[in-house]
Amino acid sequence: MAEELKVGGELDAWCTTCRLMKWHTIVALVDGKPAKVECQGCHKQHQYRAQPPGSATEKGEKPAKTPRARSAKSATPAAPAVDFDTLVAGREGDAQQYSPNTTFALNDVVRHPTFDLGVVTATPGPQKIEVTFRGGDKKILLHDRGATVASRLGAAPRRDDVPRPAGTSDSPRGQK
Ligand SMILES: [Zn+2]
Repeated sequence: MAEELKVGGELDAWCTTCRLMKWHTIVALVDGKPAKVECQGCHKQHQYRAQPPGSATEKGEKPAKTPRARSAKSATPAAPAVDFDTLVAGREGDAQQYSPNTTFALNDVVRHPTFDLGVVTATPGPQKIEVTFRGGDKKILLHDRGATVASRLGAAPRRDDVPRPAGTSDSPRGQK
């Protein structure tokens, strides 16, 4: 909407009489903004309304910054829903020594050299595990590195290495 507004100019606006969005002619400007407009449908003059009534941007302005309730609650790491000791109960012996080369699965018990005993509570992405440690501390740790390196070496690269059919050229055809 970079158009220059001027008296006599036209714009789409809400007609309070037709109750429709109609083309209007600007009758009066205040501070560079249309104040009064004439409907090209019913030829009534009325106050300029950019949007139908009830719309959030009734005056064509961005609505005031709504304080988005960024609840502080969600930011603070809450205690795990399930009690840590319940998660680990009886499985301490199964705990795998943490190493980025080891592959862990959800709910695996991990023994970390620094953070000690933890449980894999999420797998947020490839080669990443979220481990919840005693006390509710959650850490995103790398895993599965060894396996991936191996598979990368073994598998064919998934690049677009397929030879193009002869005759197809990379040069852009038909310059504008
Ligand atoms: Zn009208």
